[in-house]
Amino acid sequence: MVHCPECETSLADSSDIEFVEMDSATGFVRASKRFYTANCAECGRTIGSGVAGAKSNGGAA
Ligand SMILES: [Zn+2]
Repeated sequence: MVHCPECETSLADSSDIEFVEMDSATGFVRASKRFYTANCAECGRTIGSGVAGAKSNGGAA
């Protein structure tokens, strides 16, 4: 179970978390991947982030 460190809302459901894609907004991520942050739906605090690989090229650079 994850709780928001800011407002202590229980983040039990995906509806409690707001995912914001940052791919084209920041420009430092290649188009083949999507970088996103997970924000608390209550207070907007960033809980975490990650990269969702949209493609797989077998590990080739
Ligand atoms: Zn919160």
